[in-house]
Amino acid sequence: MEEKKNYNNIEIVKEGGLQCDNTTCDYTEDTLFKDYEACIGKPCPKCGENLLTEDDYHRAVVLRETINFVNSMSPENLDSINNLLTEEERSELLKNMDFFKDAEGIDDLSEDTKIIKTTVTTHKEVKAIKVEKADAED
Ligand SMILES: [Zn+2]
Repeated sequence: MEEKKNYNNIEIVKEGGLQCDNTTCDYTEDTLFKDYEACIGKPCPKCGENLLTEDDYHRAVVLRETINFVNSMSPENLDSINNLLTEEERSELLKNMDFFKDAEGIDDLSEDTKIIKTTVTTHKEVKAIKVEKADAED
């Protein structure tokens, strides 16, 4: 298979990690994405509840494929998508997307924020849980 160029539009700062399905249990473990598949159905060592369901695994895979897709787009491609929207429209869109809706800090982002650091969960659903402004590196 042809290796696609990675433009790193989305940088994965910290990946993986598993969280116990039991809401009263706080067990988490650091697991890399590549090891997820082996963890499907693995019981929590603390309470015995499931650590990674088939559904949660599937969401993690879809998220990873989405990131790979965005990262395969060149800066020119991304620019042309971006230019279809005004800054105001873009910020409105961001706030209205279910994905970002409940994320901590979403209301504090200014309209001209281009690079944001997003913490994403794939537990039960794919959702942003926290957004922060990140400075562009130049
Ligand atoms: Zn547990």
